[in-house]
Amino acid sequence: MSENFRSNGAKKIAGDEHICALKNPPPIKKRLIAIYDALLNHFGYRHWWPGDSPFEIIVGAILTQNTAWKNVEKAIDNLKRKKLLSPKRMQQVETELLAELIRPAGYYNQKARKLKAFLNVLFENYCGSLDELFKLDTPKLRSELLSIWGIGEETADSIILYAAFKPTFVVDAYTKRILTRKGIVDNDAKYADIKQLFESNLERNIKLFNDYHAQFVALGKNICQKVPICGKCPIRSL
Ligand code: SF4
Repeated sequence: MSENFRSNGAKKIAGDEHICALKNPPPIKKRLIAIYDALLNHFGYRHWWPGDSPFEIIVGAILTQNTAWKNVEKAIDNLKRKKLLSPKRMQQVETELLAELIRPAGYYNQKARKLKAFLNVLFENYCGSLDELFKLDTPKLRSELLSIWGIGEETADSIILYAAFKPTFVVDAYTKRILTRKGIVDNDAKYADIKQLFESNLERNIKLFNDYHAQFVALGKNICQKVPICGKCPIRSL
């Protein structure tokens, strides 16, 4: 197990005064399951990721980089209005027009080029078919997605889990913040360390991975914010 995971949870975490780590926590597997159960009990099943089709989910995963979801929704509404939420139609549209339509999501020129980079690979290697792309096994699909300009680990894993329905754990800033404050990982834990923590301790179950990530989003957005509201936190005592 990486040194970035902690089993005793008692170490002081530099740079974060909001620590809720336990002095004598149970083994990590039990702890991760207990955290999920408490979050599920508090927030209910999250039905994440919002999107009417795998392609819409891919577009959302790229557009949500460095911006709030409400901005992505406006960009997606614009694309829907122009009937551009299909690989073929989006491939045919000029990059400049695409950028204009996704402007509400921020970094719109860059994100339009990222969408086009994804589509270029999709059409060059898979005849424009998501079904063909998703025939790859999870490691090959992940490495194909990571080879595309503008797709990093979080975006690739979101696409694999929510659009391709394959088991991979998505790690985002909320996940890292909560785990750091719980004393489960160190501040310098890498994406791969946190992903491995979940994948090696939990059953590789698509529904569980799907909803666990969504529960962290709910906790990070509503309670474990930059200034956490610990009094309302369902996992404070775990
Ligand atoms: S909100 Fe919850 S997870 Fe976040 S610091 Fe407070 S008790 Fe810990």
